[in-house]
Amino acid sequence: MAEIKEEILVNESGLNFVEQIIKEDLEAGKNGGRLNTRFPPEPNGYLHIGHAKAIIMDFGAAEKFGGTCNLRFDDTNPQKEDTEYVNAIMEDIHWLGYDWEDRLYYASDYFQQLFDLACRMILEDKAYVDEQTSEEIAAQKGTPTTPGQNSPYRNRPVEESLDLFKRMNEGEFEEGRYVLRAKIDMAHSNMHFRDPIMYRIIKTPHWRTGTTWKVYPMYDFAHGQSDYFEGVTHSICTLEFVPHRPLYEYFVKELADETYCPRQIEFNRLNLTYTVMSKRKLLQLVKEGLVRGWDDPRMPTLCGLRRRGYTPSAIKDFVNRIGYTKYEALNHIELLEHSIREDLNKTATRVSVVQNPVKLILTNYPEDKVEMMHMDNNPEDPNAGQHEMPFAREIWIEGEDFMENPPKKFFRLAPDKEVRLKGAYIIKCTGVKKDEEGNIVEIYAEYDPDTKSGMPGSERKVKGTLHWVAVNSAVKAEVRDYDRLFSVENPSAEEGDFRDLLNPNSLKVRENVMLEPWLAERVKAGDHYQFQRLGYYTVDPDTTADHIVFNKTIGLKDTWAKEMKK
Ligand code: ATP
Ligand code: MG
Repeated sequence: MAEIKEEILVNESGLNFVEQIIKEDLEAGKNGGRLNTRFPPEPNGYLHIGHAKAIIMDFGAAEKFGGTCNLRFDDTNPQKEDTEYVNAIMEDIHWLGYDWEDRLYYASDYFQQLFDLACRMILEDKAYVDEQTSEEIAAQKGTPTTPGQNSPYRNRPVEESLDLFKRMNEGEFEEGRYVLRAKIDMAHSNMHFRDPIMYRIIKTPHWRTGTTWKVYPMYDFAHGQSDYFEGVTHSICTLEFVPHRPLYEYFVKELADETYCPRQIEFNRLNLTYTVMSKRKLLQLVKEGLVRGWDDPRMPTLCGLRRRGYTPSAIKDFVNRIGYTKYEALNHIELLEHSIREDLNKTATRVSVVQNPVKLILTNYPEDKVEMMHMDNNPEDPNAGQHEMPFAREIWIEGEDFMENPPKKFFRLAPDKEVRLKGAYIIKCTGVKKDEEGNIVEIYAEYDPDTKSGMPGSERKVKGTLHWVAVNSAVKAEVRDYDRLFSVENPSAEEGDFRDLLNPNSLKVRENVMLEPWLAERVKAGDHYQFQRLGYYTVDPDTTADHIVFNKTIGLKDTWAKEMKK
């Protein structure tokens, strides 16, 4: 299991190690003082929070140093790619606050140039067509300590390889029948140099280039060259590409002269506890209906986090806190939750909502009277102002806020005990009514008219303060409460099927939640609120004129702060 590390490589100027490299290159006048990064997603799934870390690096560094960042779709495998993903990726990058302007590219733009380069390499005896099965090729690969074996087709005449490669592309052969390999060194200490595959046959039509191509370049033969064609100066990626770097440079040198080669720099991936980050696994969760879609608020996808109520600034704050290093790490989800809590604490309007309502009747309050109480919109923000909330004889309070036989430290409501109703009066419980099974159906209390909040006499103190909503004006809503998607800390490190590790209680739907009327009137998908004493909630896009739906973004209790004190 990956070790949990929060070590961050930043220097005194606050730059991370990648930014330090960029700064040095710029100061040394490399590439004519130009900075051009790129973000290269493969459109085979939705972006997740790990991609956000890469986006913030690629676009963020360009922003910081006055450079540019390209968006390039790495669309080299038509079997898995789709325009649905392309559109979703663009939406998510914009949501994070970045823009590629006129620098939108596709690796498929370079298929002709890459094909021409491959033909030239064949002619120069630097590539050959192999016709062994992938199993045979794998068996000849050797190990890091033992050399591999040459393919029997390695010395196929140049003209024959060229002819076969062209016929591969014309669709004459089935998938897997032939591959094009670089002729480098089957005994090389870097396994990636042992005659890597450059091209394979794929018959599935490509969503952009249709049936023009039947051979498609492998990542290693496409990525560096694409960077080169675009004039990318710093090609920033994740640590698993460290061993690919020499091959990246090897292929780029087939095109470049000495003056320019894009520089690959690697940083550690973002991994989150109680989450999986592999696109393959996320796709499986969606396809098998184990979540409600790519934007299910339990998913680590950017659209899922957005629907859950996460904000771009909270995600940036989190990425900034975990930093960019050279060590693989597993990041605590509590830290991400800390970031969103901090952000919403500053911005979310406070409202009164009762999620598990039980009726409380103030027997000494006039039956038809309604008073408007003044509630603070956000005590953290002096300019946020107040809104009005009706108070009446019958109100909803939380079932959990009443106990008939409370333990000593219970400072909420109990027979003969007093509490303050937030923004209203102090009340004293006088009794309860139960049904035949002994469940409490109504609570009775008397209010003290001299204790109205904000009025003279209101200074009298009691230990507990409860939130509430008046029954007559309350509006019913649905609230979706979420827990961790997985029940183990590091699902990717466990043996067996990851689906068996899903938390069966990750979604709890509450149908009978009572909102104060002021809130119900203004709900708009995506808006954030703090429900007093309960947590932060975000309006779900499923909301319609007569059915309001909220997602619980996060509770109020900061488990990260607790973690830090240990
Ligand atoms: P695949 O398994 O399909 O290759 P991928 O997550 O690497 O998945 P890409 O679309 O290739 O997906 O990723 C685009 C960019 O995002 C790459 O530069 C990759 O290094 C970066 N990236 C992907 N996952 C993470 C992560 N967890 N943390 C940081 N960067 C990531
Ligand atoms: Mg990848």
